[in-house]
Amino acid sequence: MILDGKALATKIKEELKVAVENINNTYNKKPKLAVVLVGSDPASCVYVKNKKNACAFVGIESVSVELPEDTTQEDLESKLKDLNADNTINGILLQLPLPKHLNERQALNCISADKDVDGLGQENMGRLLTGEDGLVACTPSGIMELFKEYKIDLKGKNATIINRSILVGKPLFALLTAQNATVTMCHSHTKNLVEHTKNADIVITAVGKKNFLTADMIKDGAVVIDVSIVRTENGLCGDADFEAVSQKASYITPVPGGVGPLTIALLLKNTIKAFKNQNNIY
Ligand code: NAP
Repeated sequence: MILDGKALATKIKEELKVAVENINNTYNKKPKLAVVLVGSDPASCVYVKNKKNACAFVGIESVSVELPEDTTQEDLESKLKDLNADNTINGILLQLPLPKHLNERQALNCISADKDVDGLGQENMGRLLTGEDGLVACTPSGIMELFKEYKIDLKGKNATIINRSILVGKPLFALLTAQNATVTMCHSHTKNLVEHTKNADIVITAVGKKNFLTADMIKDGAVVIDVSIVRTENGLCGDADFEAVSQKASYITPVPGGVGPLTIALLLKNTIKAFKNQNNIY
């Protein structure tokens, strides 16, 4: 069965649109997101455009802050601090990756925790690990929404994540563990990867390599979440050899139309949450 992330993202965005309307009717203001883009990487420009369009759809205001490719760390951090201090801005998104000469971690940590709608700063990451309320990274949260929507019970299940990045694997590890799954986190130094994937009720793959996950690597009836977005001559694909893996899996996300649309929907959800927290609306 296909896990239709696109349909779920549309449903979430419709709900958020109503939420923004209600906020506006009651408080006469709307959440506002600042999207910071350094340089002009073509893929990043597309992502920024998609995020801004999604904001417009649900009624969130957005502003673009476009900085040149040769922006210094100091100038970037100074811009982020200005946005932190700007009371009209509720959420700040720093589009990644940054140009190579910039320190991504240091820049992410500059964003105020209460405006860190990507949930990638150290305070929100720490909150996630300690089980305190905060803003949670959008892609892992989107995956959790899929499990909820399709009533996939995580309790006691073996989940194997092939990724240990701050964007995907690490936050997902915390979220799945909080739902009582038994989680294995794999990476490029993992020995006998197949042992870990074959043992898993749920396999989440985010390696970024076409046909990386083959049917012989999963057990019958496994749930497969394919996070990767790989650009090929024939369009986008994920890690999974979709034709063969989908025959063996009980559930699988397609690429495109799986996890990707949910990432944007969750960014909007986080922006509304940040707005509410800042305005003491519960
Ligand atoms: P990343 O930091 O490069 O992570 C890739 C991970 O794969 C790393 O943990 C790496 O291990 C692991 N890996 C590489 N080769 C491996 C191998 N042979 N065996 C086992 N593990 C291996 O990238 P990322 O930012 O997390 O993104 C991963 C993919 O997800 C990309 O395709 C990206 O486009 C996609 N993505 C999609 C969304 C979405 O919204 N759908 C959001 C974020 C990312 P090491 O840590 O040892 O290097």
